[in-house]
Amino acid sequence: MSKYIDQIKKLVTLQEIDTELIELKNKMEESPKHLENLKNELEGLEDQMEQLEDRLKLLNNQKKKLEHDIEEDSHKIKKSKNKLMMISNTREYHAMMREMDNLEKMNRFREEELTNLLEDLHINLEKKEELNNHIQNLRDELATSQATLVTELKQINDRIKKLEGARKKACADIPVPILSRYNFIKDRLHNPIIVSVKKSVCTGCFISIPPQSFVEIQKGEQILSCPNCQRLIYWEEHFSAENQVKEHA
Ligand SMILES: [Zn+2]
Repeated sequence: MSKYIDQIKKLVTLQEIDTELIELKNKMEESPKHLENLKNELEGLEDQMEQLEDRLKLLNNQKKKLEHDIEEDSHKIKKSKNKLMMISNTREYHAMMREMDNLEKMNRFREEELTNLLEDLHINLEKKEELNNHIQNLRDELATSQATLVTELKQINDRIKKLEGARKKACADIPVPILSRYNFIKDRLHNPIIVSVKKSVCTGCFISIPPQSFVEIQKGEQILSCPNCQRLIYWEEHFSAENQVKEHA
């Protein structure tokens, strides 16, 4: 009986090591995902910034052109005003008046356009500043995450190495046929590999084991498998009884 308990204990220890190894390997795959998300977010914002800069360039060019046109036509108007004094022909006078009128109208229209454009520019410049701050914050977060990830992965790797050492030692203590059964199940089923039976229910698949098997397992003579899920099973009370003995000792 105590040999049986001893073997179960060793298998449970091995199981604990394997469970932690599985968790660590999952974590190792999950950890870089946050960083990937940040990188994608940053790329999106940088694209937005590029578009915004194109828009600002366009608006600035439009502004330059409008200011230039206003300036040019103002100059024309001024020149025409001076000329006007010297014209005696009525038809010519009216023609020039009309032309000046058109130029002034055009410039008023341009002034309005310029006002709207300046407003648009202002809004987009504010957007740019906001976006810039957002990008800077994200870059900082990314740098921090990167550093954290490096440390985290190193810690995980160190722990895995330690556990792999512990696993070797744990395996050395287990008789080869039992270890082969354990490894056979490990390669084919989801973790865990060895589970307790509580009140005749297998805690691996949560199905009752047949009464015959339950009687067998209580004897504590040989290591049994759950007839349903094939996991190695042990009777919970053997273990707690053993622990109680220990506590009293
Ligand atoms: Zn089962």
